[in-house]
Parts: sequence; C-alpha cells; structure tokens
Amino acid sequence: FPRRGFRGNFVPPIKSRSGNAGNTICSRISGKNDDLMDDSTRRCLEILCGSDGDLPEKLRNLEPRLIEHISNEIMSKDPNVRWSDIAGLEHAKKCVTEMVIWPLLRPDIFCGCRSPGGGLLLFGPPGTGKTMIGKAIAGEAKATFFYISASSLTSKWIGEGEKLVRALFGVASCRQPAVIFVDEIDSLLSQRKSEGEHESSRRLKTQFLIEMEGFGGGNEQILLIGATNRPQELDEAARRRLTKRLYIPLPSSEARAWIIRNLLAKDGLFKLSDEDTASICKLTEGYSGSDMKNLVKDASMGPLREALRQGIEITKLKKEDMRPVILQDFEDSLQEVRPSVSYNELSTYEEWNRQFGSLS
Ligand code: ADP
Repeated sequence: FPRRGFRGNFVPPIKSRSGNAGNTICSRISGKNDDLMDDSTRRCLEILCGSDGDLPEKLRNLEPRLIEHISNEIMSKDPNVRWSDIAGLEHAKKCVTEMVIWPLLRPDIFCGCRSPGGGLLLFGPPGTGKTMIGKAIAGEAKATFFYISASSLTSKWIGEGEKLVRALFGVASCRQPAVIFVDEIDSLLSQRKSEGEHESSRRLKTQFLIEMEGFGGGNEQILLIGATNRPQELDEAARRRLTKRLYIPLPSSEARAWIIRNLLAKDGLFKLSDEDTASICKLTEGYSGSDMKNLVKDASMGPLREALRQGIEITKLKKEDMRPVILQDFEDSLQEVRPSVSYNELSTYEEWNRQFGSLS
C-alpha cells in the first residue's frame, strides 16, 4: 500500500536487497511510521533516497546513527566561504581553481587525460587558511562540504572509526559533487609505527586508503582534501594518493594588512592611516592569519579597556562614546598576542615543499 513521504509525495516501499536484519538504515526506515519520525531521521531520508525513493546501494548496510551524525555534525550544504574572504595566497587559489574546482564543475571536460585523479593536500603552519580554502572550494564548486578531524576518528570514535569512514564516503557519494576535508590527516596516515599502534587504528588507516582509492579513477565528483601541519609524518602511501600538494604559508605583509582592515571594517570604528597599518604589518612578521585575527580582537578591546580605566562602568558605557581603535591599541596588544609559529618550523615546511610540493 502507498506511503506518504516526508515531502508529502508518494514514496514507494524501500527495497532491501541486503537481507540484513541488523540495525541498518533499511530495517529502520521500513519499520517507521512517517508521522513519528524525528527530524534527524527525516534528514537522513533526504540524503538517502533518490527521486525514486530507493535507497542507494552504498548505504544499505550503514547504521542510522552514523548517517545521522554525518548529516548533522560533519556535513554542511554551504560552508559560506568564498575566495574573496581569504587574504593573499593568490597562487594557491589559482592552482586550486584549475586543479580541483574546474574538474568538479565540469566532469565532462575533465575526463581521460584531463582526469584530475588523486586528492589534494594542503600543508603548512596552523592558522594559515587551509580549512578556509577547503570551504571555499566547496562554495565555489557548489559542492557539499564534509569536515572531519582525523584525530577525532582515533580518539572519539575508538573502534568505530572504520565504520564512520565507510559511512562518510558512502554519504558523500550520494551528495555529489562533494568535498571531504580531513583535518590533521597526518594522525590518520602517519608513517610512524608507534609501538602501541592498535589493531583498530591500523584497520582504520587501511579502510581510509581503500575508500580513497575507490573514487579516484571513476566518474565520481568527490574531492578529498587532507590538511596537515606535519606533512613530514605522512608516509609514501598517503603521498601517492594525495597527488597535488600545496604549501599554504604564513600571510605576506599585504595579506596581513588586508586581514586587519577586513576584520575591523566588519564591526567597528577604527582610525588607522596607511602608515599605521604598514607599521603593524612590520611588527607582525611571522604571525599567522589566525594570530592576526587574535591580535585584531585584542586590539579592538583597547577603547573599552581605556574607558573602564577611566572609571566608566560597563553598564553605563555608551557605544557612541567609545573612541575608535588606533595604532596604540595594536602596539599594546602586540605585547600579549605573540606569533604561534616558530622560525624553525618554517624551514621544515619549506624543505618538505621543495621535496614533495606541487608548486616548488
Ligand atoms: P588552518 O586550517 O590553516 O589551521 P583556518 O583556515 O582554520 O586555519 O584559519 C583560522 C582562522 O584564521 C580563520 O577562521 C580566519 O579567521 C583566519 N585566517 C587564517 N588565514 C587566513 C587568510 N589567509 N585570510 C583570512 N583569514 C585567515
């Protein structure tokens, strides 16, 4: 007998070819009354069922709670970052557009010899915009974005990481074009054989490599992006699968100036001449994008701190009486907000880039 779907339209009964009586999506959906379904399960259905209401093959044996977790915590339809939000990195943006965005937008052209193949590795110091680039790729290519931190797979999902990885790639293949962003990928694909390496983490790594291999050559519009601050930890198998490796360095002086002005312009009053900005940029050599953000945040507190020093109570402080943010605020904040990346670390990245990078 006909059923009403969550969109109110007719949904044919879901075929279960697996015959698996476990706690799988198919057993759960077919046993549920639509009216009693919670939002999560509804969203699951939306992901799972095609226009014919049938359950894609790849998802038949996955557990609902894993699908729900992916749909609620890992997946986002539009991560809302565009190239124009990212300071500097012009060369990386240009290469990424050619190497991965065009193929995602036009799989019909990027086939055969032009077939992209392999994943993208973004490496460099922390806080330089690697995650932003991943989100911007998804945004520019109108792709679904999946973000997962590899260390959470080994810490939070102990013993279950393998299943989650399978579910992640399964859901992504139903939501193409898709970008899977794996942060701290080194913790998953590390070459170190620690003495206590558990059987489960070895299996997780194998599963991950199998999944990566799975969509490499086909017609699938799935891009895997790995990000790492420790590229030297990646082994040969990981490098082989992450064929495009881009160094994402610390921001240049111009990029730092852009970050300052862009952040201040968003919400506040500031009074900085070009000379003031140049002077802040000179003092912030070696700061990452994220350090710059922290600096701007701290400096924006300057006018407030000054008012409070003058004895004005926070509850009585009028917004319009606050003075603009000035150079002195930055000079004060520079004492507090220090760069998070050391000079020595930079040479490690540069060396690895010379050896394995795509733009060296
Ligand atoms: P990563 O992934 O490299 O560790 P993120 O992309 O998460 O760094 O950046 C952290 C924050 O730092 C961002 O949310 C942004 O505010 C700021 N940031 C870093 N790099 C840039 C950049 N190139 N342009 C603009 N903001 C940046």
